[in-house]
Parts: sequence; C-alpha cells; structure tokens
Amino acid sequence: MIQMPVIFVGHGSPMNAIEENQFSKKWNVLGQQLPRPKAILAISAHWYTNDQRVMSQKNPKIVYDMYGFPKELYKVEYPVQGDQNLAEHIRQILGDECLPDESWGIDHGTWSVLRWMYPKADIPVVQLSVDRNASLSDYVETGKKLQILRQEGVLIFGSGNVVHNLGMVDWNQKGGFSWADEFDAYVKNAVTQQNTDDAVEYKKAGSCAVHAFLTAEHYAPLLYCLGAAAKEDSIEVFNEERIMGSLSMTGYLFQGK
Ligand code: ZN
Repeated sequence: MIQMPVIFVGHGSPMNAIEENQFSKKWNVLGQQLPRPKAILAISAHWYTNDQRVMSQKNPKIVYDMYGFPKELYKVEYPVQGDQNLAEHIRQILGDECLPDESWGIDHGTWSVLRWMYPKADIPVVQLSVDRNASLSDYVETGKKLQILRQEGVLIFGSGNVVHNLGMVDWNQKGGFSWADEFDAYVKNAVTQQNTDDAVEYKKAGSCAVHAFLTAEHYAPLLYCLGAAAKEDSIEVFNEERIMGSLSMTGYLFQGK
C-alpha cells in the first residue's frame, strides 16, 4: 500500500463550510487529487480536552460548535461513519492515557473542510482531541507515533489555523496585519524545512508571535502533522493567505515521494 499523505488545513471561518471561495475550492481539488484513504484521522482544534481522547462512535453525531452564524450553517449534514477498529488501534498506539470517547463527534473543524474534500461523506472518520495539558513538543511526539497509520491507508488530517486571534479580527481588513504575515512566514519556513524545534519554539519568531494565538488549540494540529510527516516527504504550501488581519488560512500537504 502507498504511503498516505498528511495534511494540515487552515479552516478559518465556519462559513467556509457553505461558501464556495478560493479556500474551499482548493480543498475540493485536493480531495480529488489525493490518493483515496481507507479512513481519515481528524485532529481538530475544536476538540480541546483535558486529556487525550479518541472518538469511538460507530455513527458519530455532527457537532454544531459555533454560535451566532446563519441558520443555513446549522443545517449542514455530514453523515459519515466512524471506525471503531481504527479508534481501538489508535488507543493501542498511544496507550491507555488515550481514552475512548462517545460524548463528542464530528465538529466543524472537521466537517467544514471534509464536506469539500469528500462531499459524499463516504470515507470513515475518527477524531482525535487536542490535549490541553500536553506540551507543544508532546503534540509532535504523538504525531510521530501516529505516522505508522500512513502505511495503513489512513489520511492524517489536522485542522486549525497557524494565526488565530479572534479578539483582533478586523472584518474590514482584507489581508493580514504585518505581524500575522510575519508569523505565518516564520512558521512556513520552519514547516518547509521540517524544523520541528522552530515550530515548537514559536516564540523565537519574536514580537510577531505575541498576538499569533492566545491558546494553542488551533496551532496544535499542525504540530501533530509535523510529527507524522517523514523526512523524505515533499511539502506543498496551499491557501497561503492571511484574512481579517489576525487569521491565517495557510495549509500544508506532506506527501511521500
Ligand atoms: Zn476554528
């Protein structure tokens, strides 16, 4: 079996779930171009837990974990199957600290993008939470352990945002604030050189790092992906844009050669 890619997507606004724009169009194209996975392991910024959890439901519910958006968005369906064998396998890989979970499901970090990548919802999805008590280097280590799944037909899919500061969002700002552009460029440099130390020690970016994010949940999925990447992977940067001042849409695709 071929080595499956690893992908990190900057998901941005939940409205991207229903808006056909440059970002969602690219997700759609990627879904058609990538080798078809047997299953998807989704690491979503929107499942931020006090421990490490893996979704163990056979028929996960869709979670509408966003507030104050148009009604249309709450009507989106993504009736995808879970994969209990994969969930159990992940628990074996990560150990007993990784708890099975039936309380959550598929949240908008996952479905707002996957409905473009795989509109038929015909590839099983298992979500892995972001453990808020783990360190940034722990996220990379967990990603390394999960790398083996790539040989088993599993697409490792991280969904977050490199720059994510909702308090500073300016709806009238088209691109990014200068510090956001600078931080995104710092991270791009680290990722494309697979310099995980620089990605973990993001404060080395200097003053631009101060506002990049206040909590790590949107940055963490990228670190899991970096851990799951192999040294020989080629790396494609896509949707490299900052929007509304303080959000980055930049995504990374790691593919075996
Ligand atoms: Zn988000």
